[in-house]
Amino acid sequence: MGCLEDDIDYALRVERGEIKLPSPRPKIVCLCGSTRFRDQFMQANYRETLKGHIVLSVGFYVHVADECPNCGASQSFAKEQGAEGPQGKCWQCGADLGCTSEQKIALDELHKRKIDLADEVFIVSVNNYIGKSTFSEIEYALKQGKSVRWTEPATEEHFYAMAKRHEKDRGNDCAHEGVVPS
Ligand SMILES: [Zn+2]
Repeated sequence: MGCLEDDIDYALRVERGEIKLPSPRPKIVCLCGSTRFRDQFMQANYRETLKGHIVLSVGFYVHVADECPNCGASQSFAKEQGAEGPQGKCWQCGADLGCTSEQKIALDELHKRKIDLADEVFIVSVNNYIGKSTFSEIEYALKQGKSVRWTEPATEEHFYAMAKRHEKDRGNDCAHEGVVPS
């Protein structure tokens, strides 16, 4: 039997449903935004997952200072009990609560690798707050030709207003500064 006949036979069997082709993989969505918006991240993750998307997100919430990212212990609870641990460390397990500027750079880089894997970037924000890291992620995603979606009805105008503000700050390495447009 020739190749063409094999191909036709194969196509007919697919058509009759005798051979199941693998379905296309679900869309991969990467959540971007300030880690201070933990609740919004969790909500976005929940909603996007229910839509059948593969969701990539931040690994932990650097900005949510009250809970230890390692063991979950509440730090304010310890303070109330007068059992505060060493500065910047969890009172219960001793893990670092914040992250160093080197770790911050590494985390930002890691998040860009997640964007590389994604088909779409979803911007999580509250009151249109976009921090420096998030802004550079949006820029990066657009450069890579990824589609960008927003939790809030941010406009292109808003984005360019942010770009101008961040342009002014460039060189100033205060990674946690955000821009809240009026
Ligand atoms: Zn801990």
